[in-house]
Amino acid sequence: MADATTRKYDVIVVGSGASGGWACKRLAEAGLKVALLEAGRPQSDKNFTEHKPPFELKYHNLSAALIRKTRPIQSIFDICTEYNYEWFLNDLDEPYTTPKGQPFQWIGRLRMTGGRTNVWGRVSLRYSEFDLKAADYDGFGENWPISYKDLEPYYDLVESYVGITGMAEGLDHLPDGKFQPTMPLTCQEVQMKKGAKQKLGWTVTLSRSANLTKPLHGRTACHYCGPCERGCQTHSYFNSAFTTVADAVKSGNCTLISNAMAHQVLMDTETGRARGVQYVDRETKAVREISARVVILCAQTQESTRILLNSANRQHPNGLGNSSGALGHYFTAHVRDGGGSGEMPTFGAQPSMSGPRRPVGIYVARFRNLRNGPKSKTFLRGYGYEGGTDLDFNWSAPGFGNSFKKALKEPRAGVNVLGFGEVLPRWENFVEIDPSVKDRFGIPVLRIHMARSANEDAMVKDMADSAGELMEAAGAKNIRTFAGPPTGRWAVHEAGTARMGNDPQKSVLNQFQNLHDVKNVFVMDASGFPSNPCQNPTLTIMALCVRSCDHLLDEMKRGNI
Ligand SMILES: Cc1cc2nc3c(=O)[nH]c(=O)nc-3n(C[C@H](O)[C@H](O)[C@H](O)COP(=O)(O)OP(=O)(O)OC[C@H]3O[C@@H](n4cnc5c(N)ncnc54)[C@H](O)[C@@H]3O)c2cc1C
Ligand code: SF4
Repeated sequence: MADATTRKYDVIVVGSGASGGWACKRLAEAGLKVALLEAGRPQSDKNFTEHKPPFELKYHNLSAALIRKTRPIQSIFDICTEYNYEWFLNDLDEPYTTPKGQPFQWIGRLRMTGGRTNVWGRVSLRYSEFDLKAADYDGFGENWPISYKDLEPYYDLVESYVGITGMAEGLDHLPDGKFQPTMPLTCQEVQMKKGAKQKLGWTVTLSRSANLTKPLHGRTACHYCGPCERGCQTHSYFNSAFTTVADAVKSGNCTLISNAMAHQVLMDTETGRARGVQYVDRETKAVREISARVVILCAQTQESTRILLNSANRQHPNGLGNSSGALGHYFTAHVRDGGGSGEMPTFGAQPSMSGPRRPVGIYVARFRNLRNGPKSKTFLRGYGYEGGTDLDFNWSAPGFGNSFKKALKEPRAGVNVLGFGEVLPRWENFVEIDPSVKDRFGIPVLRIHMARSANEDAMVKDMADSAGELMEAAGAKNIRTFAGPPTGRWAVHEAGTARMGNDPQKSVLNQFQNLHDVKNVFVMDASGFPSNPCQNPTLTIMALCVRSCDHLLDEMKRGNI
């Protein structure tokens, strides 16, 4: 009997995260035979620990030094803990390099079925026509080769399947979606929402979030336990591992091949078409090949571009699909170094150690450089805030004995916001192969060039100033704001490096995320984004991926691919 590698496939999908999960589901359910190559291990409900108290862990979740030994970069983000650190890659096994003086912290690198959706923050926001055509408005960069109308039906489809709690707000620049019933705002958030609208004209809303408030496709509604980044046994948040990938496998048409680290796309030099993918088995280090009619890369922005760059050959000397020279360039992420906090009235509420804990925060919609508003004199584009309120005991109460106990029980209500801002897509921010370093599997690694620019510095300053205004409008006391200091650039919302466009001389992919240069290779993650609007990207990654899959199915039916 043929093993998984020698079977006949129509399509190879590389990566099982937000994009790869959808590609597998859409194509396998349409009847195509799909091989899913995933560098990580299989995920299972048995790994989920959302209800486990820290004292049941070997090091009581106080083991920062232990985690830093193998994950010095991944553990910079506080969601990588003793509970879940083994889901993240080992930074020593899979390094990358940066030029001197330009650090970039590439965090959120998962090696499990489901990729980053295992631990993501779940904020799910649509882009608007204004975002997709931003270059028309301020002259910077390129417009997207599609419009909101092209994406809208796919946003509807994805949201209806994923399940997103949210409030309709009727904003042109942050379109409403197909929401499940909203989780309630706290009293402090209601006061902030009113104050922000009345005094500033800004919109504060519940973060639109991929957490269920009513059952959907066999998944139950959220029961407010809190730490979704440790998994969810009731499948109440969206994680590709137990949604899209599970559906694809259930169709009988998708074979998940785990621990398969794709190295390069294999080309047929006579036809100029891809014939398959070469990968390394992470457990045995054996080099394997797998064949199909179509290759779809969904390995996450930098990783997919790394595979294309590592696929250079005589016909594509600078990387596969790089006749434009744009591959690797226009790398963007979000900047998130400015914000503020304050204290709000408690409205008589009492804190509780045992919950409930709403796993969703608040979102403040972009209010700078809007189509009909004034233009900022110091920066282009804009930012939104993520934030929340917390009601807690007064842990910093002074004293001891009975008076301390009494003071401790005096509740405190805090409110905080953190800006997430657009980083402009610039040629000089790019990734390339470092010719002198390989990972543990013998695959050349990336060198990442990401510099801070004056536009982002000005934006971060504005994030802090405006956070102060917002806190005042909300009626907060003890207001504090922060901006910077400039640290190594990092984010988990990376995009660009293989941008889409209509002109093959300036872009790598067409509007269906298909390489201009190779008819049967697609890149369906955020690599193709021509810009990185301030809204979190994953909802758009998923909607765009499904749209591209539908195009691929049409082309295959017509015999064009
Ligand atoms: C902590 C955190 C919070 C976040 N919060 C939000 C949020 O609130 N909202 C939002 O929109 N986005 C958020 N994101 C970002 C979001 O998770 C990503 O945008 C999204 O998951 C990207 O999808 P993807 O398919 O491109 O990649 P991923 O979901 O990362 O999946 C890529 C998969 O490819 C696999 N892979 C990589 N290289 C190879 C290879 N060579 N061969 C085979 N397989 C490979 C990986 O193992 C991984 O499983 C967050 C991310 C993190 C880490
Ligand atoms: S808070 Fe809700 S979605 Fe998150 S782990 Fe708990 S039940 Fe699941």
